[in-house]
Amino acid sequence: MNENNECIFCEIGAGNAPAEKVYEDDDVVAFLDISPNNHGHTLVIPKDHFENLYVLPGEILCKMMLIVQKLSIVVREATQADGVNIMMNNEPSAGQVVMHAHIHIIPRHEKEEWPHFPHKAYIGEEMQAVAEKIKNCFTR
Ligand code: AMP
Ligand code: ZN
Repeated sequence: MNENNECIFCEIGAGNAPAEKVYEDDDVVAFLDISPNNHGHTLVIPKDHFENLYVLPGEILCKMMLIVQKLSIVVREATQADGVNIMMNNEPSAGQVVMHAHIHIIPRHEKEEWPHFPHKAYIGEEMQAVAEKIKNCFTR
């Protein structure tokens, strides 16, 4: 939703904006990303507006994930890919541009150069300290 209460994915979900849909039911729509990372790059969205993963009702999230699983298999086959990435950007710092929750399915090919995301190191007790913080927040 932008400052004018407009959301392109709400419009696609409602059938009011064009999209190359590959799946649709009462709650979920999947369509091709208009600017794909690879051909066949697919987005799975809830029809109703939820901004990100944090606020998606569990029932809708489960429906989306089942569609993600099915579509991963058929998108992989249709694009003759060797694998798929499943990705969800939550909040602008994580790369979310469209503020309507969506899950990316991106076909991957063995021959393409796609470097894995860079890794960092823990020093000393840092790893245990981070785990403690996460566990504390989880049980609150
Ligand atoms: P994100 O960075 O996770 O918010 O990704 C948003 C994605 O939506 C981008 O990959 C865009 O190319 C894609 N996108 C934006 N508008 C449309 C549209 N009208 N139809 C299809 N894909 C879109
Ligand atoms: Zn929306």
